Amino acid sequence: MDKKKITNMEVKKKNRNAVFRYICQNGIVSNPDISYNMKISLPTATQITKELIAEGLLEENGELQSTGGRRAKALSAVIGARLAVGLDITKNHIALVLTNIVGEILKYERIYQPYVCAEAYYREISEKLEHFLDESNADRDKILGVGISFPGIIDLDKEQITYSHILGVEAVPFDSVSAFFPYPCFFLNDANAGAYAEGFHSDEEERFFYLSLSNTVGGAIFGNNELVQGKNFRCGEVGHMTVVMDGESCYCGKRGCLDAYCAAWHLSDAADGKLEQFFSMLDQGNVEAIKIWDSYTDYLAIAVNNIHMVLDCDIVLGGYVGSCVGTHLQEIWDKVAGRNTFGEKDSFVKACNYKVAAAALGAALKVIETFVSQI
Ligand SMILES: [Zn+2]
Repeated sequence: MDKKKITNMEVKKKNRNAVFRYICQNGIVSNPDISYNMKISLPTATQITKELIAEGLLEENGELQSTGGRRAKALSAVIGARLAVGLDITKNHIALVLTNIVGEILKYERIYQPYVCAEAYYREISEKLEHFLDESNADRDKILGVGISFPGIIDLDKEQITYSHILGVEAVPFDSVSAFFPYPCFFLNDANAGAYAEGFHSDEEERFFYLSLSNTVGGAIFGNNELVQGKNFRCGEVGHMTVVMDGESCYCGKRGCLDAYCAAWHLSDAADGKLEQFFSMLDQGNVEAIKIWDSYTDYLAIAVNNIHMVLDCDIVLGGYVGSCVGTHLQEIWDKVAGRNTFGEKDSFVKACNYKVAAAALGAALKVIETFVSQI
């Protein structure tokens, strides 16, 4: 194949891809709309939409209101043409999400299922997944795959879960997990998955750090619609950033890590393990809760300020604590602002938008994105 031919094919693919994304974002559009807004010729736009209709990804929905001249055909994506599943594996639960091609959640379920590194565990969650799909009346032929979020280091080169302290596993090949599912499987780290859910619908320019404050602390950098992975796929592992020299013991074996101060259980342990209850106690002015929150946010502010100094971008608080933080965000910002050398006026600390099922959703969205990028 000569170079020019490859280039033409690439351009065509890029255009198809961009047109499909444009339609997904804009709902009902017409060929003239696509041509005008995407700066491609009308015959090219018409040819692309014709191909996408033939593949069952687009459909015609009558005609658009005319402002003079011939009425244009109304086109929209067949949002149920393909489906994706997200599976979030944690120490004590699994969460399942089913989404359509534009990433809308069709069904969500969280099930108590303590992790065991054994075939029987994967067989059981595969059965639960099938049951979940039965209840959703999901057409199996439309399922693109299962995105699996895992609380550990996911090495995409070696295709293995390098390790997960919290689940007590090491060097688990992707194959040994995907073998239990009759769909293509995609693996990603839990904080990366949460960040992906946050970033999926954001502007192309948006760059942020996602600080995952669940029963372990992690993080991810999102920018240019992608996750930054790092040389060893450990980018954003701020849970093991030292915040206190020779401080509290961390589960990783070191001392003074952020995780030893800001894991969600530091709060929920004061409320029978229920984080929402901790925040209710805080709202009611419970003295003990106020004391714990004050200490927690002292360390959190150090971490947020440090991360911001390195990356100079918004910090999104995610995970269990980020989902509950609500009205207390201002208190965190006040402490961060107190540490910030540069005195920014506007807060760069945000609470996550996806409060439920973020990791499972992000894992499903990764499956969708992999498909859409190949259209
Ligand atoms: Zn640690």
